Amino acid sequence: MTILTNISQLATCRPQGAQGDLHIITNAAVAWDGDTISWVGSEKDLPENFKTHPKIDANKRLVIPGLIDCHTHLAFAGSRHDEFEQRILGKGYIDIAKSGGGILSTVKATRSASAKQLLNHCLDITKQMAALGITTVECKSGYGLDIENELKTLRVYRELAQVQPLTIVPTFLGAHMVPPEFARDRENYINLLTNELLPIIAKEKLSNFCDAFVEDSALTLDEARQVLKAANNLGLNIRLHADQLSDGHGAELAAEFGAASADHLECVSEPGIKALAKAGVIGTVLPYSSLFTFQKPLDARRLIDAGVKVAVASNFNPGSAPSFHLPIALTLSCTLNRLTPSEALKGSTIYAAQVLRLDKQIGSVEVGKNADLAIINAQSVNEWLSQIQSNACLTTIKGGTTISS
Ligand SMILES: [Zn+2]
Repeated sequence: MTILTNISQLATCRPQGAQGDLHIITNAAVAWDGDTISWVGSEKDLPENFKTHPKIDANKRLVIPGLIDCHTHLAFAGSRHDEFEQRILGKGYIDIAKSGGGILSTVKATRSASAKQLLNHCLDITKQMAALGITTVECKSGYGLDIENELKTLRVYRELAQVQPLTIVPTFLGAHMVPPEFARDRENYINLLTNELLPIIAKEKLSNFCDAFVEDSALTLDEARQVLKAANNLGLNIRLHADQLSDGHGAELAAEFGAASADHLECVSEPGIKALAKAGVIGTVLPYSSLFTFQKPLDARRLIDAGVKVAVASNFNPGSAPSFHLPIALTLSCTLNRLTPSEALKGSTIYAAQVLRLDKQIGSVEVGKNADLAIINAQSVNEWLSQIQSNACLTTIKGGTTISS
């Protein structure tokens, strides 16, 4: 057994209560056996017989559950640095995509990259994520857009899960856009996804999730519905990139499938929000995208007031969200999306775990859950998230083992 003591505030992030209710314990301690939490409470209540066990001193700092980034496009190759300048000079995301830039240039580079190159890129990033207090990462495919390269990406994620300590949750996003070779034959690309790729992914258990991007530059509502229906029939959970650049009724489609989440939602309508609330779909805000695409950010209070739980993620990708720094994304979700710091933290712990259907194992500091914890150099969540710092995480513990300090 190991015991973490001298915690000024322990944000347990239990699921009960409102989004801002973190169920904080002051002057707390946490104990674990192997990789599983066995005791949580006030330090003064620690059982007498625990006192001889090895201890980690939190030095009167804030302790949180390991952070969960529930939306990234982790495996990619190439760079889109020149696009950054074009966007500043007024070229729109869709215009850039139409001229062969955007996602398409990443697809080209990712197809050319070897599995080894992609794996090394992912390893480099996950190591840096661990130092930030992140212990679980969702990773989407969607830069392959053909059988060979979508499978290559998902297999890279499978290997990644085995060779480094973070929990990796792969998501199939073959429905990211229709690749140029199918531009005049869109139907056949949808058939390739539904009849060929999805059955292989289900059979090899390469992913438990299927995501689709509904947008003018990506899939139509009907195309996405076909893909999601096939995924649903194979027992995969559904996620959606919804209503980012226009209100394409993506939120309503997510509700129709009882999706695990509808992500983006910058342009979601009031009926869309109502549909999410009614179906219990979590809305994921991705503040880096608003920051890098000059889009009006989503007012997440609209979701919270309507009874929709809000997750927060980085959306890490080389174009519209070129950062995997989740703690800064949490601060931006406060300044851009009007979440409170406590709401942002619950959105990147227990609610993110619910999105990934892993909330029985991770996302909160409770007996029986994985000992995934981060010690933060602050006295409170407000102190931590009301400023932008290079890295406030002092120690990251994954499954009871210190993986970064
Ligand atoms: Zn995304």
